[in-house]
Amino acid sequence: ATTFSGKKVALFGLGGSGIATALSLLQGGAAVIAWDDNPESVAKAEAQGIMTGDLRSADWAGISSFVLSPGVPLTHPKPHWTVELARGAGVEIIGDVELFARERIAHAPGSPFIAITGTNGKSTTTALIAHILKTAGRDTQMGGNIGRAVMTLDSPTSKRHYVVECSSYQIDLAPSINPTAGILLNLTPDHLDRHGTMQHYAAVKERLVAGSDTAIIGVDDAYCAQIADRLERAGRDVVRISKRLPLTDGYFADGTRLMKASAGRYTEVASLEGIGSLRGQHNAQNALAAIVACLKAGLRLPEIRAGLESFPGLAHRMEQVGRKDHVLFVNDSKATNADAAAPALSSFPRIYWIAGGLPKEGGIESLRGFFPRIARAYLIGEAAPAFSATLGEAAPYEISGTLAAAVEHAARDSAADPAGEAVVLLSPACASFDQFKNFEIRGEAFRQAVAAIDGVKSIGG
Ligand code: ADP
Repeated sequence: ATTFSGKKVALFGLGGSGIATALSLLQGGAAVIAWDDNPESVAKAEAQGIMTGDLRSADWAGISSFVLSPGVPLTHPKPHWTVELARGAGVEIIGDVELFARERIAHAPGSPFIAITGTNGKSTTTALIAHILKTAGRDTQMGGNIGRAVMTLDSPTSKRHYVVECSSYQIDLAPSINPTAGILLNLTPDHLDRHGTMQHYAAVKERLVAGSDTAIIGVDDAYCAQIADRLERAGRDVVRISKRLPLTDGYFADGTRLMKASAGRYTEVASLEGIGSLRGQHNAQNALAAIVACLKAGLRLPEIRAGLESFPGLAHRMEQVGRKDHVLFVNDSKATNADAAAPALSSFPRIYWIAGGLPKEGGIESLRGFFPRIARAYLIGEAAPAFSATLGEAAPYEISGTLAAAVEHAARDSAADPAGEAVVLLSPACASFDQFKNFEIRGEAFRQAVAAIDGVKSIGG
């Protein structure tokens, strides 16, 4: 039996996580009535045996909880109509992370549960922690705002670790989230459309760390620094991290050296020197948070260092997927427009560039400054003619047509590169829909094509 068995639960928002949540509530013995503004989503839910009904005509008096998708506005710009109905009927409004906390974590005392929030770096930090734990042989489940919806994660065992990325929307709908380690990376004005004021936004994020056994807080901005002080005064276990300040107590970065400070005495815990997937000071913040969370989970420093060194980066975002001699293969399939492709192009000095797909307005004109880095471009999909016209004389190119041909030709040419160190980079600056179902499938196709090249050592996966 679960907290919800025999109860009537209303649910709005039938995307992937909404359906997963409805199914797990049904499994737990609840009676669920679900709805969505989109008739296609309603039909999809019905096809999976979920009872649907317009919540406008539901009997709210009999409903014990209302589960809302995190994508639906709770307050700003104005409450969704379902929110007003639920409030009017005095029914609690919760999200899937709250269900996860009540139904899974609450029944698995001691199960390590690491939750990550902040304005920037959430996904990187979440993926990094999961990677370090897995590399150290720990049974690890990762999800939330990244990857799998929390209610689709495998059930707890005494040895299973959970690493969950939480958006502020999800925290807003999770009043009893209580992680063993909570990470608040940073706070900058963002999503104010949804949360109204910075004060409210900061207060929502603070709740995650306030409910944690250990609060790991990036103190490089004034909001987070105040939150750390406040929690410490309240007697909570707080670990401060900084990407630039030499702290007296906590963990900080001195360039690429990551240091532990204890009563003003410093020791180096790890180095990010030469770790391509964790370049930049912002990644020092992410790595420090990951190190502290993994130490709290009982890992030893050598295990943590091994995980840092082998971190492939986020899937499809400048993800290192393979190496052959002097050539690195990088999957940046997530770059579906020119702006998104710019960081990857700026990161490597000599590039065999695979680009194209379904073109976006403006094409690659804004990337002109990077053309001198292009050893050769391999153009695919519908955008190939337009991209070749923009490249013109500025960089050599071929029209490869398909991704498979582009990978094969780029691998051959880069292997013979006279300059040495080079990268074969898929950063398409285009949507994928002309040749692939989505950017993830395009990135997977790239990874597989790279893995099939003779002599390539694969990274990650
Ligand atoms: P989120 O999941 O919070 O959106 P990601 O890890 O996906 O964050 O990173 C998104 C972008 O934000 C990265 O490409 C990088 O440019 C930037 N970023 C990553 N980590 C940080 C950080 N700790 N502080 C500031 N910016 C960051």
